[in-house]
Amino acid sequence: MDPAVEKVAAENVEALRDPESYWRSAADELDWYDRVGPVFEPLEDPPFGRWFAGWTTNLSANATDRVLRAGGGDRVAYFWEGENGDRRTVRYRELHTDVLRWAALLRDSGVSAGSRVTIYLPMIPELPAAMLACARLGAIHSVVFAGFAESALVDRIQDSASTVVVTADGGYRRGKVVPLKAIVDGAVARCPTVRAVLVVRRTGQPVEMRDGRDRMYDPTATPPEIAPVPRAGADPTFILYTSGTTGRPKGVTHGTGGYMVWVHRTMQRVFGTTDQDVFWCAADIGWVTGHSYIVYGPLLVGATSILYEGAPDHPTPSRWWEIIERYGVTILYTSPTAIRLHMRNGESWLRGHNLGSLRLLGSVGEAINPEAWRWYHAHIGVSRCPVVDTWWQTETGAAMVSPQAGGTLVAQRPGSATLPLPGADVQVVRPDGTPTDPDERGVVVIARPWPGEMLGLWNDADRFRSAYFEKFPGRYSAGDYARVDPDGYFWFLGRADEVLKVAGHRLGTIELENVLIGHPSVAESAVVGVPDELKGEVPFAVVVLRPGSVPSPELEAELRRRVREAIGGLAEPRTVRFVRQLPKTRSGKIMRRVVAAVARGGDIGDVSTLEDDATVDEVRAAVATLQHEV
Ligand code: ATP
Ligand code: MG
Repeated sequence: MDPAVEKVAAENVEALRDPESYWRSAADELDWYDRVGPVFEPLEDPPFGRWFAGWTTNLSANATDRVLRAGGGDRVAYFWEGENGDRRTVRYRELHTDVLRWAALLRDSGVSAGSRVTIYLPMIPELPAAMLACARLGAIHSVVFAGFAESALVDRIQDSASTVVVTADGGYRRGKVVPLKAIVDGAVARCPTVRAVLVVRRTGQPVEMRDGRDRMYDPTATPPEIAPVPRAGADPTFILYTSGTTGRPKGVTHGTGGYMVWVHRTMQRVFGTTDQDVFWCAADIGWVTGHSYIVYGPLLVGATSILYEGAPDHPTPSRWWEIIERYGVTILYTSPTAIRLHMRNGESWLRGHNLGSLRLLGSVGEAINPEAWRWYHAHIGVSRCPVVDTWWQTETGAAMVSPQAGGTLVAQRPGSATLPLPGADVQVVRPDGTPTDPDERGVVVIARPWPGEMLGLWNDADRFRSAYFEKFPGRYSAGDYARVDPDGYFWFLGRADEVLKVAGHRLGTIELENVLIGHPSVAESAVVGVPDELKGEVPFAVVVLRPGSVPSPELEAELRRRVREAIGGLAEPRTVRFVRQLPKTRSGKIMRRVVAAVARGGDIGDVSTLEDDATVDEVRAAVATLQHEV
């Protein structure tokens, strides 16, 4: 076995053998008020347990006060760039003042420890400041992606019973102005718990301000000193609704101590981030990736981050490359969907941009197909930067399976997230719970508690238990499908409930999609199973072509043949259909269940997180031609 793999495996064994001392020393790198009792206390009910339950800390104190105390006040916390070209540099000292100003405003609006605050802001520096202000007061923030429509906002405010909503007059998205305050007004009319709406000026458009309820944030006000409120390790810090790829979003609730320690440790291990790095997690703070790797993670290690408000290809597909060059970005962390978008736009947009500052690339959100991995590595990383493909979930708080650029870097394998991080007992098992053999496909479970694990689902203890702990009692069921190769490398193959069952064989959706995307004409694809009398199920594929490629029966035949040759006759899609866009969540993930529902003629279910309704019509049209042929 590769000595690097052996070393990582040995550390994992050690972290799992004695979690108490492993996590105690990790926690020692952060500030606490009290350290009473054990690091971990098992609980019978609900499953798993509580981390740092008797310890107290404050996340905002760790994120800014600690940096100031160490003399880092002049360091840049955020280089902010608005979609419209506006720019702002926020130093740690300024961020700290912003947090105090928000804390004062929130406190004046009745917010105290345990209150829920919904934050519906574009990607502007006020967003992390408002989150940290909640953490400072011990209030629980619920950030709602500013691309969500009114009804999704209503559901999230109501579910969390928030008393305050933080928003802006408007936000920019692909050159358009979104009237955020007007959307909030509509939503709040249906949310009787809301007592105050706090508004940031972003676009300057006129807004209606309701007397006694609405207040404008004044960025020039001198804030009072507000001491951080000590929080117990297992006190909730935030509620965040999942992407909704598989169904109705879940209100994942994270704690304080364990979340902080886990995120901090992954910043060190996965990215090797220091205060010298310019870290760019190009996600939206409305998703967990942004919570952990734009807000808490980078600030906990005192790094500089990029905060970019807009779309990756606005006004041109060079936008990202300009930003990397302008600020000397050292680490870029993004999603396969964004990588495929840039790949589709082509390398010409990179020309003339110096990406020499980059030292590391990361990917998260979906399985990254080897083709996109190689493109990312070759063109963005100029074959010089390692790629960390990080597997994790909203529920896990931060990365779980990933190469370790700040630890022992194991050999890269395009398409594999490699090995679990220390303390992450991720395993692949058979449906009966027994371990799989090397290379055997199975479902992903987490067999032991880890500090970043969620506390539960807000307001829904039953769903918490049934969604995660019923299938494999005593273990956390992740809902993904994967295999572990003979060297211990993890290959994630898609969602467990989207596995195709063809003539008794099980195939992960990703396995077929990777073959299709490997074709030079294909940019993206989604494969689902449709019922078949003989085989049980047969694959049905929709693909998006790269610019310059045109759909044709020959190309369809070629793609089918490609799958047959790569995987076998069983896997050959009965049909491949061409669409211009795939149905995706607002976080950019492919919604295969929508493709499947349309292909099977069923109900498309909860689509509140669907980005673009027109994509469903495209799939419908593609399916209609299919039925016509049969
Ligand atoms: P919902 O749970 O509401 O259906 P979701 O699962 O998409 O939505 P997230 O928590 O944002 O919500 O996403 C986590 C999921 O994303 C993982 O379970 C996995 O399916 C996928 N994923 C994330 N990172 C990777 C990765 N590096 N490789 C493969 N899959 C990944
Ligand atoms: Mg999920």
